[in-house]
Amino acid sequence: KVRSLTPRVFALSNHHFSVARVPNLIGGSFVDSKSSEFIDVINPATQEVVSQIPLTTNEEFKSAVSAAKEAFPSWRNTPITTRQRVMLKFQELIRKNMDKLALNVTTEQGKTLKDAQGDVFRGLEVVEHACGMATLQMGEYMSNVSNGIDTYSIREPLGVCAGICPFNFPAMIPLWMFPVAATCGNTYVLKPSEKDPGASMMLAELAMEAGLPDGVLNIVHGTHDIVNAICDDDDIRAVSFVGSNQAGMHIYARASAKGKRVQSNMGAKNHGVVMPDANIDSTINALVAAGFGAAGQRCMALSTVVFVGDSKPWEEKLLERAKALKVSGGTEPDADLGPVISKQAKERVCRLVHSGVDSGARLLLDGRDIVVPGYEKGNFVGPTILSGVTPDMECYKEEIFGPVLICMQANSLDEAINIVNKNKWGNGAAIFTTSGVAARKFQTEIEAGQIGINVPIPVPLPFFSFTGSKASFAGDLNFYGKAGVQFYTQIKTITQQWKDLPGGSGVSLAMPTSQ
Ligand code: NAD
Repeated sequence: KVRSLTPRVFALSNHHFSVARVPNLIGGSFVDSKSSEFIDVINPATQEVVSQIPLTTNEEFKSAVSAAKEAFPSWRNTPITTRQRVMLKFQELIRKNMDKLALNVTTEQGKTLKDAQGDVFRGLEVVEHACGMATLQMGEYMSNVSNGIDTYSIREPLGVCAGICPFNFPAMIPLWMFPVAATCGNTYVLKPSEKDPGASMMLAELAMEAGLPDGVLNIVHGTHDIVNAICDDDDIRAVSFVGSNQAGMHIYARASAKGKRVQSNMGAKNHGVVMPDANIDSTINALVAAGFGAAGQRCMALSTVVFVGDSKPWEEKLLERAKALKVSGGTEPDADLGPVISKQAKERVCRLVHSGVDSGARLLLDGRDIVVPGYEKGNFVGPTILSGVTPDMECYKEEIFGPVLICMQANSLDEAINIVNKNKWGNGAAIFTTSGVAARKFQTEIEAGQIGINVPIPVPLPFFSFTGSKASFAGDLNFYGKAGVQFYTQIKTITQQWKDLPGGSGVSLAMPTSQ
């Protein structure tokens, strides 16, 4: 039943006339959309058109939701052990296809192959965690809460759930979503990013090969209209979103107005506070890796450094190491960072750097005019460092989402903490220090959801949850871990009485109390 997508969707075509069109996945079949409108998926290193995604029609969207709705009763009644075994097989297939998946991520998203492997691997870990769902989804039981009465709770799947993905982690983020939802017994409609849908398609193909029944996972492509259709659809019970604040707050409001559960992971401005006593070498390495890795297009990228005390010696070292980074196409073996996702993204990054300079920041390193040999058309921005940035500058207030490190200065840890806490976002923050006292104060006082202590990108593994806060998250239940299981399940509490009780004392209409 599953036909291989590999030659059709993922082969890079040299002929513009035969650009592959990415199908939708509806009820277990890959079907070409009847839409008349398509969007190019562009390789950001070369501008080649890799494929095209359809703006899926409303009719096609409705059939995807219907397929998910039809698949639900039998999938929810499939034993949890069987559902887990599908995930066990799925993780094995992801491992086997790691190189192909990573190559697709690099081709469509631009990050280096090694980084793309990390993208797949961090998603794979969520699939591994879902293999133990029986324990995670377990309810609770209390015997004899009253005379002959026991109470227990069970966690049941919700029904049809949906996920809307960003461009920056084309493999990891879909894997934050449907494996957890499906292993809990839900069925799913996934909308990949229109910029890099390939990894989602390959993962769906592998999930079906692993035994995921028809209709449990469906994929529809498109942009705003399909997202709005997801928010409005009466059969969809929960929506997971990862992406920008603009889209996330719109989706949160629109879908929750329809009574849906929503978890919305959004933008960020992650700060690294560097204490004068920090280990110089490892701290500089951490700042460079977390600031410029993935060309700064990670929601946990460390985009702002606050040096406590004299920043000059730190900035000199930072400059030295950032200058040595190699910017190139992600498939080049020695590339440290690839392009940003689109021409518009590059323009935005350059505009924000420009505005920083205009408002008085010093440009220590300028990567805006970089030309990469062999990739002259790519959307490259080289490592860029702005120093002397203050909280009122636009380059600080906006998320840049490019390889730009912003340097600020504070006279004390208290002042640094105050800067971080005044920022509207709260995804992550890190401190670099050899003082346990400073680290503990930072951990206690910082208002961000994920704290690193000498760890620059503290993204928790799947047995914890991804716990962004403030403007970086809307909802109550975070992605993956215990919270993820709670998000995709409804708790039901049962009270049972199986004791032969004598009826001699007559009827009492008073509120029953435990005795
Ligand atoms: P984006 O918001 O532009 O797109 C995300 C998804 O929403 C896409 O599928 C897109 O089609 C859809 N969309 C975009 N605008 C919409 C609108 N107005 N109405 C309805 N749907 C819309 O985000 P992006 O550029 O793909 O991703 C980058 C952003 O994602 C950054 O802000 C980054 O910080 C954030 N991000 C956050 C996390 C996290 O866990 N907090 C993780 C990854 C990325």
